Amino acid sequence: MTEKRPAKVDMEKIVSLCRRRGFIFPSSEIYGGLQSCWDYGPLGVELKRNVKEAWWRANVQERDDIAGFDASILMHPRVWEASGHLEGFNDPMVDCKNCHLRYRADELESDRCPACGGELTEPRQFNLMFRTFMGPVEDDASVVYLRPETAQGMFVNFQNVLNTTRKRLPFGIAQIGKAFRNEITTGNFIFRSREFEQMEIEFFVRPGTDEKWFDYWLDERLNWYARLGINKEHLRPREHGKEELSHYSRRTVDINYLFPMGWAELEGIANRGDFDLTQHARFSGKDLSYFDEETKEHIVPYVIEPSAGVDRPVLAFLCDAYDEEQDKDEIRVVLRFHPSLAPYKAAILPLSRREPLVKMANDVYAGLRRCWMVSYDDAQSIGRRYRRQDEIGTPFCITIDFQSLEDNQVTIRERDSMNQIRIPIAELQKSLAAKLSGEDILVLPEGGQVWKVEREG
Ligand code: ATP
Repeated sequence: MTEKRPAKVDMEKIVSLCRRRGFIFPSSEIYGGLQSCWDYGPLGVELKRNVKEAWWRANVQERDDIAGFDASILMHPRVWEASGHLEGFNDPMVDCKNCHLRYRADELESDRCPACGGELTEPRQFNLMFRTFMGPVEDDASVVYLRPETAQGMFVNFQNVLNTTRKRLPFGIAQIGKAFRNEITTGNFIFRSREFEQMEIEFFVRPGTDEKWFDYWLDERLNWYARLGINKEHLRPREHGKEELSHYSRRTVDINYLFPMGWAELEGIANRGDFDLTQHARFSGKDLSYFDEETKEHIVPYVIEPSAGVDRPVLAFLCDAYDEEQDKDEIRVVLRFHPSLAPYKAAILPLSRREPLVKMANDVYAGLRRCWMVSYDDAQSIGRRYRRQDEIGTPFCITIDFQSLEDNQVTIRERDSMNQIRIPIAELQKSLAAKLSGEDILVLPEGGQVWKVEREG
């Protein structure tokens, strides 16, 4: 986070929009909030679902070399011994003797407390895993941990997936799920929290082909963000130096994004070698090797791991989509989400609350709801309603006016260009599907027309 290049938007605007429009709230807000935990509201949950859906689609549905998985959050405690988390998942930490604030020693720029200038304690190791107890007795034998990453669930199920899917190398396992870390420094909104979600792939390859596959996944993941609308200039790979590599890693590259507070990690790609399978084989006493039909040998595959959060990409998509433009004497705030990420794909806006217009609007609403998340708004002027939809990133507004009653046509207004087209209701679903998948309606259905709007509202 060192380079002071201005990001597109400051964090306050994003936090305030998220709060105001129901994307993200502080957790347990009526009790004063719970530090570093966040609740996703009605729009946030849709955005987050869409991010996860886009990831699953690209990495599981559209590939035949990756299988999906969903491991339980609580795992056998030996898993964390084998993975190194019990030993090594520590951040050196210091406390201020005066105000008792706690900091990560490696993030401090001086040896005094940044808040009050007080004296700091010596660094202490602090394990980031949350501990709890399984069963009625709270003793050492019943300690279990909330997983700090989803990855281990896939390593310990390597043989199960191999045997049941009959996949051959190279192949991967993919998982989306919650992870928990008792982080010392949190903050920057949902960037670093103590409960978050991850989207991880463990891609198993023949040793010797790992470097090639590493480059492949780095490329794939960068392209995934770009395809979903992130400006490539806001993405930057950062190679880890030898001294910062984790104990399991042969190579790590972070995909950094230009967040409002500066460049920071969005996702990490690691070459974990055979560390995890070897460790779990040793600790469990089970064979986790792979019989290679080509060489007739048992081998332990290497693993390339693209490991993304969900919340950081959600924040990146929000920041990258945020735009303000002058529209006459107002500022138009627009979230220019890729259509597949937008919480609502369309909004139905009847120009009046009178029958029979309302019935027509409700029929259109009911029809489209079967295919997509669609909203309905009949409050205030049409101009205000457009602004409200712009601000939450709805790509299309469908207005129903009195003429619709006569010609059975509606107007589709595009969020980004503010252009409008008028088309028959019978064609609406097909046209919207085309537009949502990025096609322009080049040949308008019979009776349709296009125009550029000069004034709105
Ligand atoms: P950082 O150094 O920023 O704490 P990390 O290197 O520990 O992150 P990884 O262990 O590589 O993170 O986890 C993979 C991904 O999981 C990260 O790129 C990030 O998107 C997400 N992630 C990790 N920790 C958190 C957290 N506390 N809050 C939100 N997302 C997180």
